[in-house]
Amino acid sequence: VPFDQRDGWIWYNGDLVPWRDAKLHVLSHGLHYASSVFEGERAYDGVIFKSREHSERLRHSAELLDFEIPYSAEELCAAKALCVERNGDPNVYVRPVAWRGSEMMAVAAQNATIHVAIGVWPWPSMFDVATKMKGIRLDIADWRRPDPACAPSASKAAGLYMIATMSKHAAERKGYADALMLDWQGRVAECTGANVFFTRGGQLHTPLADCFLDGITRRTIIDLARRRGIETVERRIMPGELPSFNECFICGTGAEVTPVSEIGPHRYVPGNISRMLIEDYAAEVRPGAAI
Ligand code: PMP
Repeated sequence: VPFDQRDGWIWYNGDLVPWRDAKLHVLSHGLHYASSVFEGERAYDGVIFKSREHSERLRHSAELLDFEIPYSAEELCAAKALCVERNGDPNVYVRPVAWRGSEMMAVAAQNATIHVAIGVWPWPSMFDVATKMKGIRLDIADWRRPDPACAPSASKAAGLYMIATMSKHAAERKGYADALMLDWQGRVAECTGANVFFTRGGQLHTPLADCFLDGITRRTIIDLARRRGIETVERRIMPGELPSFNECFICGTGAEVTPVSEIGPHRYVPGNISRMLIEDYAAEVRPGAAI
């Protein structure tokens, strides 16, 4: 069912409105000039994981695009919780989005109204659970993550997803699940909607998040690994090192923790560290559930 033809409630500029009525005008700055930022979150058993961090990141993403979200982090958290509750399903993906409206339709848009909406919908783990321990196959994207001097790379800005969509399409055309993107300097960066980790010698290795999104899941994984006595080395990783790693997994709100079996010509066997972190992450996002 297309996303504009569903039932339910959308939180829209302060009110819950019927899903199908949550529209915007075609002459909106956010659409034409990508002045839009968003979040991706998950509610588990009715509780949004790290809701506060996501609200703060949304506000920060907007600041980087030179606009201010007219709701505090607390107000955003309350709105998200209300939206989850009103829609009735306690296990949903949560999508807040903020954009510049229609008052000005040229590059400059200082006086545009900032709009905020929140939609929620069921979204199973991004990569099919049955294949999870088998691992997914990644292509290496032709597109690269831009130099932070050329784009607000720490922002979860809609405009930055243009290269993600093109890379994902190219990967899927070739039969891969997703694409690993390099950065502007040719270093390993991240996937199109998730961060990447490798294991070697009992340690985790992950690229420094200096020109891509430092995922909330990424930080959670580093913390969960530390609690298990596993150190994470955040550093520059060149593609030439890819054959030297044992395990590989990607992580993000959508992907949760998903093992990788292939990156281009390189092969990985999902093993104990991936399995342990999948389990630890599952327990972390549902602290109330008996394991
Ligand atoms: N990188 C990109 C490009 C993403 O879209 C996401 C998903 N938001 C991530 C990384 C992971 O971020 P998080 O763990 O905060 O969901």
